[in-house]
Amino acid sequence: MPVTLYTLVGLKIYLQENGPPINNMDAQAILLISNQHPNDGYLYAGEWLMPAFKKSLAILGLSAISMSCFAVSTQCTSKEFTLQLLGSGGPISDDMRASSGELIWWKGKPRVLIDAGGGTFLRFGQAGAHLEDVDFIGISHFHTDHSADLPAILKNSVFFSQEKDIDIAGPNGSDDFPSLTQFMHRMFAPGTGAFSYLAGMFDGSDGVNIKVHLTNVDYHLTTPTQVFDKDGLKVSAIGIPHGNVPNLAYRVDTADGSIVISADQNGSNPAFINFAKGADILLLPAAITEDADAVSKFLHGTPSAMAKLAKASAPKMVVLNHFMGKSLVEKDQTLAIFKQYYNGPVYAGRDLSCFPVVAPTQGE
Ligand SMILES: [Zn+2]
Ligand SMILES: [Zn+2]
Repeated sequence: MPVTLYTLVGLKIYLQENGPPINNMDAQAILLISNQHPNDGYLYAGEWLMPAFKKSLAILGLSAISMSCFAVSTQCTSKEFTLQLLGSGGPISDDMRASSGELIWWKGKPRVLIDAGGGTFLRFGQAGAHLEDVDFIGISHFHTDHSADLPAILKNSVFFSQEKDIDIAGPNGSDDFPSLTQFMHRMFAPGTGAFSYLAGMFDGSDGVNIKVHLTNVDYHLTTPTQVFDKDGLKVSAIGIPHGNVPNLAYRVDTADGSIVISADQNGSNPAFINFAKGADILLLPAAITEDADAVSKFLHGTPSAMAKLAKASAPKMVVLNHFMGKSLVEKDQTLAIFKQYYNGPVYAGRDLSCFPVVAPTQGE
């Protein structure tokens, strides 16, 4: 357990060394000691408190501790080819994390955004991203924890200085869920959309300075569908099973490597293994625990089901996201189960943590 250092104006401040990640949710500010592995992620919450906190420690004569505390960065050190998690939580707000969203930085720019769950609008800004630099947005499925902040993020375009094209992909619809095109029209259609004041995004008119190009992907196909190809950046998508919800995984390929993003899935589609093969980074959800009930397992894979996907597709690194209350508490067990099947490194992601494929250049 972390050590409680302070209770200051009602804020509990914890100091965490290399121990297990902090899961108790009454910690409003958490200060990390610098030798924690950076890829286990940093919490941003301590940043604004840090200067006053370090000064207070110095006054108390605790200069050694003061020196070893550091402001937690919300931005990636290397943006050459890097996965940054905007959200690492699930659909229930009690995990105190943003829901799913991933940025893929390439050559210094956030070229690809996959998913835009609740909370990712804020994290997008904290990551230092600008929508002007995003060329492709992929939505896995239309659960709120993967799509609710999309209108808020697209609204940025009203403030662009010049028009920009953005390609957006999402799944075909079903009886219970809209296709990407239906979703976008329910949000933005002139006159009838919930946010019809942004209808100009369909043709770049009315002061909305983006033009969206929409692709609905057939999630029943067992071979990948290419959804973006520009300047050496390629994105493809394939259906993954998430109960009866139309749902896609995405793969981003560049000359610098490959990143595969799996949203929620139960792990039962063998085609996903080929799709993910040879990736530098495979992002997998850690939504449930091994003892989950049958309904949960129809929607989500257990840690062992996800670990088997990792073993079969053999990426160089696995990153976990989509933690929920119980899976956060049992994070160590999940990591231990992964180790039984998969020999590579497995990192439990946090909001805004960065996973570079291309190592930072010296001096950064
Ligand atoms: Zn879902
Ligand atoms: Zn989800």
